[in-house]
Amino acid sequence: MTTTVNDRSERQLLQTITGMAASDGDGVRLTRVIGSPQLNMFDPFLLLDTFESDDPDYYIGGFPTHPHRGFETVTYLLNGRMRHKDSAGHEGVIEPGGVQWMTAGKGILHSEMPEQEDGLLKGFQLWVNLPAVAKMSEPKYQEFPPESTPLEQRDDGSLIRVISGVTNHGTEGPVFNEYTQPVYMDVQLPAGVEFNQLLPPEHNAFIYLVEGQLIVGDEATDKVNQQLSHNQLGLLSTGETVRVSAAEQGARFLSVAGKPLHEPVARGGPFVMNTKAEVMQAFQDFSSGNY
Ligand code: MN
Repeated sequence: MTTTVNDRSERQLLQTITGMAASDGDGVRLTRVIGSPQLNMFDPFLLLDTFESDDPDYYIGGFPTHPHRGFETVTYLLNGRMRHKDSAGHEGVIEPGGVQWMTAGKGILHSEMPEQEDGLLKGFQLWVNLPAVAKMSEPKYQEFPPESTPLEQRDDGSLIRVISGVTNHGTEGPVFNEYTQPVYMDVQLPAGVEFNQLLPPEHNAFIYLVEGQLIVGDEATDKVNQQLSHNQLGLLSTGETVRVSAAEQGARFLSVAGKPLHEPVARGGPFVMNTKAEVMQAFQDFSSGNY
C-alpha cells in the first residue's frame, strides 16, 4: 500500500451528524443537517437540507414565494424536478445532475416548486454565506443543466459529478465564487474503491453520505471512529487531502468544502447578515418592497 501524503495533512472524521426531521415551505418534509440545534453552522455553510420522498403529500406544496438576502442557495437534485421562478421574471427547471447556484445578494423573492405530481423527489439545498462586502450585491444565478456539469468516469468505476472545484484528475466544475471558493462534488464509488481529493487546507469540509458506507482516512487507523453510514454528515478536520474508501456495498456521497469567512453571523429566517440591525433592515425592506 502506498501513501503519498503524510498523516498530518489527511483530513479525519471529527464529528458525525444525523440531522433533524423538519418541515419548511408549504409542508415539505425534510431533514435539516446543518442549521439545526446540533450544528448551527459550519462556516461558510449556514444550512443543509435533504429531502427524499415518493409521497407527493410530503413535497407537493413546495416552497411558495419567499425572500432571501445575504447568502447563496444551492439546489442539487438526485431525482425529480423543481421549477424555480423569481419576481424579476427569471424562471427555470432544476433537473437531476443539474445545479442552481443562486447568489441572493441584496434580495430575491422566489418560489421553488416540485415539477411533478408523483414519483421520487430527492435532493439537497445548501446555504453558503457571503462576506459583508458581497451581502448587498446584485442577485445572480449560476445555473447549469446536467449536460454542463462534467461527469468524470474513472477506470476504477468511480463516477464524479463536479459542480464546483477541480478533481485530482483535472475535471473542473462550472460554478465559481471568489469569496468561499466552494468545492461541491457528487461521488459514486464501487465497493472497496478509494477516492482522494486535494482541498485548500484551510477550507472547512464535510461529506454527506447518500448511500452505502464509507471509511474516512487511512484504513489502518481506527475504523469504527472513522466510519460514516448513509444519511450521515461527517465533519472533517482541516488538512490537504480527503481520503475515503467505500465499504462492501459501495457508496454515494457529496464532498463539499468552502473557505470560512470568520465574520459575525446574524440570522433571521431567510435573511443572513452580519448584525441584528441589518436583519431588521432586511425585514423592513422586504415588507416595503424595497430590495
Ligand atoms: Mn429559497
